[in-house]
Parts: sequence; structure tokens; C-alpha cells
Amino acid sequence: RLYNEVIELKGNIRVFCRCRPLNEDEVSNGSGSVVEFDAAQETDLQIVCSDSSRKQFKFDHHENWEVVELSLCGKAVFAETAPVVLSVLDGFNVCIFAYGQTGTGKTFTMEGTPENRGVNYRTLEELFRISNERGGTNKYELFVSMLEVYNEKIRDLLVENSNEPSKKLEIKQAAEGTQEIPGLTEARVHSTDEVWDLLKMGSRIRAVGSTNANELSSRSHCLLRVTVRGESLVNGNKTRSHLWLVDLAGSERVSKTEVEGERLKESQFINKSLSALGDVISALASKTSHIPYRNSKLTHLLQSSLGGDCKTLMFVQISPSAADLGETLCSLNFASRVR
Ligand code: ADP
Ligand code: MG
Repeated sequence: RLYNEVIELKGNIRVFCRCRPLNEDEVSNGSGSVVEFDAAQETDLQIVCSDSSRKQFKFDHHENWEVVELSLCGKAVFAETAPVVLSVLDGFNVCIFAYGQTGTGKTFTMEGTPENRGVNYRTLEELFRISNERGGTNKYELFVSMLEVYNEKIRDLLVENSNEPSKKLEIKQAAEGTQEIPGLTEARVHSTDEVWDLLKMGSRIRAVGSTNANELSSRSHCLLRVTVRGESLVNGNKTRSHLWLVDLAGSERVSKTEVEGERLKESQFINKSLSALGDVISALASKTSHIPYRNSKLTHLLQSSLGGDCKTLMFVQISPSAADLGETLCSLNFASRVR
């Protein structure tokens, strides 16, 4: 398969940077973008700092660093995710993440809008399309789970009765070395429409008990897990693989003097899990033998889908605004660490 070959050549971890456009407020108060993409050299990105100096993000492993230009629409972004879909159907595990400060487009990239579909919709559409196309030689069954990690607690977002307090889920190590989540809802799905209804339900449940849904979504990780069970009609071989689509909690640092109590605890949990994720991916990229999966619920959950034969794709989302310069530099540093 052509796509698989291309992505294999490019390595198993790929990092993309996506910058949202300036919003109306930023345009009306006359601030320009501090992010410049070098069109000639597609792997270059420059940040114009407040003293007009430039910080250049140049990556020696070009194959692992791609800049998605401002002008690219969702379709072009998705062109990069299509090959990994094939690899899920071939029995490999895949993780796709959106990382970045709140308000930089993580949800826009993953969920998208009806006019500009995101990665979740497009990958599922592609999964259904190719699994049907392969119907003559392979049988596939797709299941969807949706969960949230908030303050190191895992919550099922597809529970039948949303009035009941959802049970806390734990990760169990299975004999085959995989991580299982006993009790997690796995809904069998046959079409993207069905998936869409489930996701809406999940989002509703996610919002229960929170006064501000937007606020909450930036303080927790939302994970969509697609399980593919495949069987070859030719030789009877069976596969089970996962595609994880992860909208991470906002990466912004809050100063300890500004927040206290619950909010401070949340921030510490977020920092801990995002740095654990960075540690895991950079350990994988540097081919170290010890990969510290157990340092957070997030990385432990994803253990069998990060590393080995698995494919990882990360969208590092940034803001073009001068006001967000500090966070943008943090995110780009994170990106260069995990590439
Ligand atoms: P996050 O999930 O990181 O907090 P959102 O996805 O909610 O951020 O995006 C914040 C705002 O920016 C939304 O109004 C979204 O529609 C807009 N936005 C983000 N990325 C883009 C983009 N590439 N093109 C157009 N609008 C975008
Ligand atoms: Mg969001």
C-alpha cells in the first residue's frame, strides 16, 4: 500500500504544527501575526518576538516535522492522517493528538465543524469506506468508546443513564500485555452518522455537573477510542487494533499565585500528564529502552498504542497573537522535544 510505505519511510512519530488565524478581536485591535511560515522551505517556522528578534524552529529530521500552513484547509490537514487509517485496518494501533494552549484550535482540528470536518469525522469516514471496499477479503467490526481523564480519574462518557454518577474506571494489565479498561462502554458502530450521535451524547455527559462546558473541556483530556476487529476471509487471521483520537487538556501554565485550591490541583494534574506524554514520546523518538508509561493515567491508557509498530501523529496547535507568544514558544519547544 502506497500510503503505508510513505508513512513508514517517514517514521512512526510525526508532528505537525497548526496555527489558527487571527480572530476578529485580534484583527480589530491591529495586532499582526507573530508566526511566519517559510513557504520556500516548508519545514521552517519563525516566531517574531517582542524585541523583533526571530526565533526559528528548524528541525533536522525534516521527515518528522511538517508545518501545516495557515492557508491549508481541513482537507489538506486530513491528507496527512489518511495513511494512518489504513494502518489501523491492517492491525496497527494509532494515536492522533491535538496539543496546545486553550483557544488554539485543538477541538477545531479534532472535531471540526459541519463545514470544516475535523480529524475524528474524516478518519472514521475513511475507516468505514476502506473497510467496505475490502469487504471481499476482510470482515471488520468497529466499536467506539469515549472517555475523559480529569484529575487522573478516568470516566466513561457513553454511559446509558447519564443521571447516574458514572463509575470510575481503572486500567488493568491483560495477560497479552495490553491495557484493558474493564466496564468501559464499547458501542458497535456501522456508519459515521451513528458515531456522530454517540459523540454528541458523550459531550452532553461530559458537560453534566460543570457550570461552564468550555472551561471544563480545557481542564480534562477527552479520548475517543475506535476499536477495529478484523478478520481475513482468506486465511482467517484475526486482528484487534485501536485508533485513539485525543483532544488534550489546555497546555497553558497558570501561575501559582493566581490560582489555588481545586484549580491549582487541576493544573498540577494537567502539567503532570502532559509532561508524561512528552517524556514518553521523546523516549520513543530517541529509541531509549525504558519508556515511562506509568507516570500518568493518560500515557498508561495509551501504552499499547504508543511505540513499537504504532503510529503517532501530533498536531501542535498555536496562536498567531503576540499576547500568546510565551505559550506559543512553550508549545513549539514541546514539539521539538517530541519530534
Ligand atoms: P481549543 O480546543 O484549543 O481550546 P478551539 O478549537 O475551541 O480551541 O478553537 C478556538 C477558536 O478558534 C474557535 O472559535 C475555532 O473555531 C477557531 N479556530 C481554531 N482553529 C481554526 C482554524 N484553523 N481556522 C479557523 N478557525 C479556527
Ligand atoms: Mg477544545
